[in-house]
Amino acid sequence: MGSERTLNNRHIINTPQQINSQTTLLIGDILAKFKIIYDRNNCVAAGPCAAVDSEHFAINADDGKADLIGGKEVSPGIWELEIESDELANQAVEVCPAAVISIKKIE
Ligand code: SF4
Repeated sequence: MGSERTLNNRHIINTPQQINSQTTLLIGDILAKFKIIYDRNNCVAAGPCAAVDSEHFAINADDGKADLIGGKEVSPGIWELEIESDELANQAVEVCPAAVISIKKIE
């Protein structure tokens, strides 16, 4: 049993196994989790991260460096935060001139 369709005159049959693996991939994408890893030690206080991603970054008024909002300091100066979507944080990665922000997919 499976679904059938025609695409550009090619007959396509989706078997239950194919449908299951496609569904698993889709669900995996929806449930994906990411982790922002921020090396505050090497932040050069330039600021654009907070301009493009104010949900995760704010400039600290005392030293001008970015703070990772809601983050946890996992070792001295290294901060991490789990996030559901990497869309905004990727913009911070791209604009940071010191390359001190990275994102890791964890699920
Ligand atoms: S863009 Fe990078 S260097 Fe600039 S404040 Fe943000 S984390 Fe620091």
